[in-house]
Amino acid sequence: MDFTRQRYRLVRLLRETHAIKREIVENAFLAVRREEFIPLEYHNYAYENNPLPIGYDATISQPSTIANMIEAAGVSSGEKVLEVGSGRGYLLALLSDIVGPEGKVFGIELVPQLAEISRAKLKKYSNIQVTDGDGWYGLEAEAPFDVIIVSAAAKKIPDKLIAQLRPGGRVVVPVNYLMAQKMMLITKKEDGSYTEETIGLYSFVPLRSR
Ligand code: SAH
Repeated sequence: MDFTRQRYRLVRLLRETHAIKREIVENAFLAVRREEFIPLEYHNYAYENNPLPIGYDATISQPSTIANMIEAAGVSSGEKVLEVGSGRGYLLALLSDIVGPEGKVFGIELVPQLAEISRAKLKKYSNIQVTDGDGWYGLEAEAPFDVIIVSAAAKKIPDKLIAQLRPGGRVVVPVNYLMAQKMMLITKKEDGSYTEETIGLYSFVPLRSR
């Protein structure tokens, strides 16, 4: 089944609602086929603006939420990006397209089966590397990063991730707040201190530990 028309329609909606702001992000959403990153039984829903189950208690986030996170972080060409909780790899594929051949994308995923499924799907992307593990601790070996996107809800601001940013780097992370999560944009300054901004309220699966 070819979903090109549905994909273009969703991207138009994301543009009109200002979830997508930049052309580089629009092009990534047009290039990556979301149906490749969800189980077959949900393919017909791939281009609804909704989260979908991807197995192992995980969900692929709502496209507008993903666009908001990418735009808040200001991910750009040539950057080095880490996604914590990379699931089946949809956001990794978008990030790969945005950072391009000069950039590099790392994913860390707690559930080894999901990490394996994503690696199989992402073979054609030469700038992506997926590691199994607890992303609460980041990915020290590859630090520092320009951007870290956390795709699961944190109980508090993850200091260890901020430590793995270069000066000027950004973390986007949903942090528990009442019954939902407030999406925070954390920007690291030259002196190592950081600023916090709240982007909005969202709902995410929790960040777990092994
Ligand atoms: N962005 C992904 C889906 C994210 S769902 C996609 O596009 O497919 C959130 C993911 O976070 C789940 O896959 C879950 O297994 C993972 N996760 C939860 N706690 C984690 C942790 N401590 N470290 C790494 N991954 C974690």
